[in-house]
Amino acid sequence: MRLFVLSLCCLQLALLASAVKEDEELFDWQEFHLTIENPQAAATVRHYVNARDFLVANENHLGYTESVVVPPQEVIGFMAFLGNLQVKYEILEKDVGGMLLRARLENKLSARAFNNDPSTYFAQSSEIYTWMEGLVSQNSGVASLVSIGRSYEGRNLRVLRLNMNGGSNKPVIFIDAAIHAREWLAPATLNYIVKQLINDYKAGNSEVRTLMNKFDWHFMPVVNPDGYDYTFRSSSTRYWRKTRKPYRFAYGADPNRNFDFMFGGPGTSNNPSSDIYHGPNAFSEPETKALSDYLTGIRNQLQQGMYISFHTYGQWWLTPAWLHPISAFRPHRNDEAAGGSYDWVKYRLGVKYSFTPELRPYYNGSLSGFSPSAREIPNSGKEIYQAVKAVVKEIM
Ligand SMILES: [Zn+2]
Repeated sequence: MRLFVLSLCCLQLALLASAVKEDEELFDWQEFHLTIENPQAAATVRHYVNARDFLVANENHLGYTESVVVPPQEVIGFMAFLGNLQVKYEILEKDVGGMLLRARLENKLSARAFNNDPSTYFAQSSEIYTWMEGLVSQNSGVASLVSIGRSYEGRNLRVLRLNMNGGSNKPVIFIDAAIHAREWLAPATLNYIVKQLINDYKAGNSEVRTLMNKFDWHFMPVVNPDGYDYTFRSSSTRYWRKTRKPYRFAYGADPNRNFDFMFGGPGTSNNPSSDIYHGPNAFSEPETKALSDYLTGIRNQLQQGMYISFHTYGQWWLTPAWLHPISAFRPHRNDEAAGGSYDWVKYRLGVKYSFTPELRPYYNGSLSGFSPSAREIPNSGKEIYQAVKAVVKEIM
């Protein structure tokens, strides 16, 4: 297979601190996508936006292109401001709140249609854990659910383990999701894969039987449950990315900038208001500390296996330099993510196979890419299930 040189980063759309109220539903708020040609214009836009209750998403940390979500009464003024500054823009969404309301309704319908099965709708952390407890009782002896710590706000951090044939010290395939709070499709896809693996194993699928007998499979559906559950509160919290630990006048660190490899390096911020704030020190967040301790504890098994961290969105399969991308996904070059989990796993734990897939949809720079319809879950689930089986098969 071909080799691609890829570097190590998760897509960042940094939602900066703003004064928007936590229960604001954003009806008729418009999403602007700006193309800014120079640093002065970027600074002027930033100053204008920061002085108002806009939601800001940074596409890259240089700030040349960004998404800004603007309340209806500010739209005309903002357009005039951009016109004077000769900043090009496109309106990507004319009613962000309406778009999110439709997504919420579709999510409710999916939940109802499929008996609240979190592999078919976007479920909060406690609902996912309850569902996994059910899987454990239906599959006693082969499935177990362990608690590896607590989040800052005291939520459980849990890992589902599947050991189908009782073997000990088998290599481990570890898959996690929702390090970033707003990336809802990631845990749903993880849940889909859990369910499919169990079903296919029971149905006697020989490929799946081989993969599951050879490896232990560990799934952590929600690495950052405080941030993740917070995104369910309202439209204005929907695009929250970080943890929820308070820092001065702001909340949260970016957990995927908080690992102890190249901590504080490129693509991070030391400003607690920034959405790529790396935290005061590596593993300052109880969530990343718990995950890193757990992974360190299974280090030997992981070195023989694989680490996969699901993120959204863009449809990239991010790999260390000498590995190859999966065909349906695009290789991605981006060198701006120090302190991420999969670099730490690869370079600190010495785990050869460490991946970060960016799931659906195809990247277009909009916030709506983080809030797909629940109808996308089976599409994402199917393609990522195939991809995971293919990469694991490669290391047998
Ligand atoms: Zn992410």
